Amino acid sequence: MALIVQKFGGSSVANAERMRNVAKIVTDTYSQGNDVIVVVSAQGDVTDELLEKAHEFNPHPSPREMDMLLSTGEQVSAALLAMAIKAAGFPAVSLNAWQIGMVTDSTYSNARIKSLSDERIRAELNRRNIVVITGFQGINKFYDITTIGRGGSDTSAVAVAVKLGADCCQIYTDVDGVYTADPRIVPDALKLDEITFDEMLELASLGAQVLHNRSVEMAKRFGMQLEVLSSMSHRPGTKVKEVVKKMESTLISGVAKDDNVACIALTQLQDRPGVAYRIFSLLGGAHINVDIILQSIGRNDTKDITFTVAKNTADEALEILEEHKDELGFESMTCDKDVSKVSIVGSGMINNPGIASQMFEALYSVGVNIRMISTSEIKVSVLIDSADSAIAMRSVHSKFFNRNGV
Ligand code: ADP
Ligand code: ASP
Ligand code: MG
Repeated sequence: MALIVQKFGGSSVANAERMRNVAKIVTDTYSQGNDVIVVVSAQGDVTDELLEKAHEFNPHPSPREMDMLLSTGEQVSAALLAMAIKAAGFPAVSLNAWQIGMVTDSTYSNARIKSLSDERIRAELNRRNIVVITGFQGINKFYDITTIGRGGSDTSAVAVAVKLGADCCQIYTDVDGVYTADPRIVPDALKLDEITFDEMLELASLGAQVLHNRSVEMAKRFGMQLEVLSSMSHRPGTKVKEVVKKMESTLISGVAKDDNVACIALTQLQDRPGVAYRIFSLLGGAHINVDIILQSIGRNDTKDITFTVAKNTADEALEILEEHKDELGFESMTCDKDVSKVSIVGSGMINNPGIASQMFEALYSVGVNIRMISTSEIKVSVLIDSADSAIAMRSVHSKFFNRNGV
């Protein structure tokens, strides 16, 4: 008998039929003699709909109230799934973040999990209940509700699996595993049987939302094996683990795209020490993460600095820089939100020069202009116009995976 954590994302619980399908997966696992803990996301697009609802009242709602609102989607799913399981003749109980002591810090909308209690969950398992837990939500030290970031139910599931010492954590979604690129954009992407934590972490951090990047980070830290599989097919999924067996290491493990990017350009800043420090310390002080940075060569004692931030932080970044315009002394400031970051990821890159140029060639072959470039030992990222992102993904993917699907 094993202890298995199964997480179901929004599309897997989107309606009554899908919910009953999930109940079947869960009860089949239970009937085989396993203890089962289920973690659920809000149904379908409920979280987005709640966000829109909030904006009907206030363009900048209070973060505390926002989390109070957004966390409700998961609570609806948990209760409905417990009902569906009971209707199928199995014992089940739903629990929310408060009941399992899922304590986070107070960073509303992107809270970090600090601790979790296993007492109630174990008691329910001992009663032979299937335990259905709300993903995404937590409580802070004031017992206020927090949420742990979009896509965060994966991380809730891994946290529960780690705390309870589960034998595995299965992430059920609407694709049957991790592919070499988003199969919705690159139809001939290849399904991976296995992928390492490190490669998955990089792919997830660069935009492959099939797994929340913090869930991969946590699973790696605690050695929790993850499996990504479809709730709608019975095909084997992708195992995410420390070491994978490959006959020969592939150069790159995948292509990822991130649309949550905005590009801010400041022109004619003074070319003197301390200017970059001042800009990025102002943004850092407001917890705005900066990703790619490009600085032009100084000319006539001036220089330009261009950088990217997450789209939802761009307006705040602009406000802060505008407030300090006199001190920073730039001539103009522009912001482009119609940009995407396309990246290739792979540990094989370290020992293979020329990978970046192959990527650039693939972009050139379909006429895609590169606006910014950033590289590390295991990834190359380019910033391009969003309108070009699908063709860019397909061309880059076909270059490395030897396909003709552009
Ligand atoms: P869930 O609601 O189940 O959490 P998500 O929408 O968060 O599902 O994640 C699943 C989606 O991730 C897929 O539908 C797919 O379009 C997308 N995706 C992006 N990159 C990849 C990839 N490399 N492999 C598989 N799916 C990917
Ligand atoms: N419902 C939340 C979201 O849409 C959390 C999740 O789905 O993982 O982001
Ligand atoms: Mg998800």
